[in-house]
Amino acid sequence: MIQTPKKIAIIGSGLVGSLLAIYLRKLGHQITVYDRRPDIRNVEFSGRSINLAMSNRGWTALREVGIEDEVKKIAIPLDKRAIHVAGKPEYYQKYGKEGEAIWSISRGILNRRMIDLAEDAGVIFRFEEKVWDVNLPEGKIYTGATEKGKWKEYLYDIVFGCDGAFSRVRHKMQRRSRFNYVQEFIDVGYKELTIPANEDGTHKLDKHSFHIWPRGKFMFIAMPNMDGSFTCTLFLPFEGEVSFENINSKEEAKDFFNTYFPDVTPVIEDLTTDFFNNPTSALVTIKCYPWTYWDKVALVGDSAHAIVPFYGQGMNAGFEDIYALNKIIAKYGDDWGQIFSTYQTERKPNADAIAELSYRNFVEMSSMTADPNFILQKKIEKRFANKYPDKWIPAYSRVTFSNKPYVEALANGDAQEEIMKQIMQIPNINEIWESEEVDQKILSLLSEKEKYEV
Ligand code: FAD
Repeated sequence: MIQTPKKIAIIGSGLVGSLLAIYLRKLGHQITVYDRRPDIRNVEFSGRSINLAMSNRGWTALREVGIEDEVKKIAIPLDKRAIHVAGKPEYYQKYGKEGEAIWSISRGILNRRMIDLAEDAGVIFRFEEKVWDVNLPEGKIYTGATEKGKWKEYLYDIVFGCDGAFSRVRHKMQRRSRFNYVQEFIDVGYKELTIPANEDGTHKLDKHSFHIWPRGKFMFIAMPNMDGSFTCTLFLPFEGEVSFENINSKEEAKDFFNTYFPDVTPVIEDLTTDFFNNPTSALVTIKCYPWTYWDKVALVGDSAHAIVPFYGQGMNAGFEDIYALNKIIAKYGDDWGQIFSTYQTERKPNADAIAELSYRNFVEMSSMTADPNFILQKKIEKRFANKYPDKWIPAYSRVTFSNKPYVEALANGDAQEEIMKQIMQIPNINEIWESEEVDQKILSLLSEKEKYEV
């Protein structure tokens, strides 16, 4: 359906705001993007560079507006996990099927590229203009240097809030009656560290692997950058016996790494400097509803649904919001009231599902070594999935390598978990886990659960 061009403001020039700008510009709208920060293209990155894993959903959204190939130039495919278990040689676990990979990409570099691409498409950016307030019914936004200072007022037909987890646009919507809002911080925080490149610019670890050092309640991960370095993240409880609160000196930091990650210590040159220079950040899940205000205002990306990062899906989910919104726009043309109400009813259950899956995946990722039953269960699942790939698609593959709704991945994962609970009850499962008998039992439980369409 043809669209009447609208004057649209997007608040936030992050990954979601800049991709949404490209989509809407291609539909012929006049787009201005506001960001409180300076233009990221002129900002020197410090030692810290957050890395993201882009998977199917993200690529699908980029492909739709013809920028997938451009972005792939700045990404590295990872086709496996490299698991570093304490006291054992590292081992590899292929992701999904042959050819399936997640892609490591620097958030800052990607953001710069997306802003370039949006500008090429005719989007106007206004940096260092923080939005302090929004008049929801009228589509007015107010920007200024400080909250109490003088504000500028701008009038738009439509306003999108792509201003991240602590969204100002959402904040305004929150003050309305019947607006639901929940936020939950987990007791694990994270800190980023860097493994620098070798002198000749090569990577110190395998560059096509997502490296993970699982240690029960905490873990360390590393993802490669194009310049030969790795961005690493330490996920660790804030409080407790092994926790951030108990690492207060360079000696304690060294001891901690020597004890739990002895193979990491030699490759991070500036371990203790990194440790104390870089902040310890918190992780939050934010849910809210509604996401829209009539035909005037909509939240997209983290502003609508911030999730913990353990499935690597925050940006992917935000990009999928845009892809879905675009399909809905194609269906309803100029009826923005209908577009927004369809968008939020379709996306909200999926956002809740990926929030839940992400939360659960932390437990899964960090327990890879901890619980022998858990490890056995995963081995049985893996073996069965290899033997019957059409009957057992792991939740990870459904989330990462498909575009099927997140709600299906969650429902399917729950169904599989129920089956595995029964399998793990088999008295001598330790001995017979590779037998035909176990396969047959899983097959029969699957056929009982036909409705889940595994
Ligand atoms: P943001 O990136 O937060 O951008 C919001 C923008 O709005 C910013 O530019 C900000 O300056 C601007 N802004 C805010 N307030 C205002 C205001 N009042 N006025 C004007 N501008 C404003 N996702 C993945 O898909 N894969 C991963 O592997 C992955 N790993 C992650 C690892 C970690 C440790 C974390 C924390 C997140 C990870 N994510 C990952 C999630 C991903 O980073 C986010 O989902 C994504 O960046 C959200 O994009 P956004 O544009 O919605 O919000």
